[in-house]
Amino acid sequence: MRKPGDFCAVKSCMTRNNGQMSFFRFPKDLNRCKEWLKLCSREDITMSNDVNYCYNNLRVCAKHFENSMFLNDLRNRLQPHAKPMLYIANIVSNVLINERMNPSLLAPLQLL
Ligand SMILES: [Zn+2]
Repeated sequence: MRKPGDFCAVKSCMTRNNGQMSFFRFPKDLNRCKEWLKLCSREDITMSNDVNYCYNNLRVCAKHFENSMFLNDLRNRLQPHAKPMLYIANIVSNVLINERMNPSLLAPLQLL
């Protein structure tokens, strides 16, 4: 059974929490928690102000955070204001759509 805590909470991300990568709990602050849900494209989770559900069940893997968001080289501690910004569904799908609609955009790269 797929438990929420076993996988990254970012909708498009399939990273499994198997100890290979750092995973981060959702913030306990309501506003930041909502922001994270939005960034993760997880509007399907309606919280009814239940920050504890997110905190206890949802994790975001380390690849969604910029280097500057980490407090240490091990990348297992985050700045208090950190938020997941990288490899997020909307950004990824925009890139894919652009590539599909404008194949010519890829041409210069292929010439290299
Ligand atoms: Zn992830």
